[in-house]
Amino acid sequence: MTDKIKHHLSDELLMGYSAGTLPEAFSLMVAAHVSLCDECRARLEAFDAIGGALLDADAGQVELEFEDKALEAVFATIDGSDQPKTTAPEVTCSVLPAPILAYVGGDVSSIKWRSVGRGVKQAILPTSKDASARLLYIPAGAAVPDHGHAGNEITMVLQGGYSDEMDHFIRGDVEIADEDLNHTPVADMNEDCICLAVTDAPLKFNSFVPRLLQPLLRI
Ligand code: ZN
Ligand code: ZN
Repeated sequence: MTDKIKHHLSDELLMGYSAGTLPEAFSLMVAAHVSLCDECRARLEAFDAIGGALLDADAGQVELEFEDKALEAVFATIDGSDQPKTTAPEVTCSVLPAPILAYVGGDVSSIKWRSVGRGVKQAILPTSKDASARLLYIPAGAAVPDHGHAGNEITMVLQGGYSDEMDHFIRGDVEIADEDLNHTPVADMNEDCICLAVTDAPLKFNSFVPRLLQPLLRI
């Protein structure tokens, strides 16, 4: 990877993934991003560690009064250089991360694109119906029509890049949009853009956050 990922997953998404409470489409998004992003993979491991600690506690008298120090210790352990670094799943396609390859059933040439107009194409991935996942193909320099969002939409760039009213996004970057955002993504001029996009209308991220973790993390 030449350029650094600037736009990352939220704690809510990583915690939801760790707790196994995300819709399948959102789990796919987290798995795909984490396979490309060392930073979020480390954060996910921290949440996994906290979840494990909670499970280890006596369920009958769990006192969720972890001191800040305890939490810091968990993160310090994760950040420590003596901590073995887990390696990303082996990627056998330069565009599609391993978690997406499984849904496509092959590499990028196996994607069954359907035109949605103006050269923009999409391919719906087979996930459970509580949320949807699709691959988007935007020709270089082309725009996805201005749109709002009935719920939450997360987009991650897999090839090329795009810009909208918020910022510029390149491979691995995620953009998290909600009802408040109207945007017009425009693909970079030098390369066709391929993205993974997941939407959850009308669910809210809040409902995915494990209640056990809320007092602990004060979110
Ligand atoms: Zn990240
Ligand atoms: Zn959007």
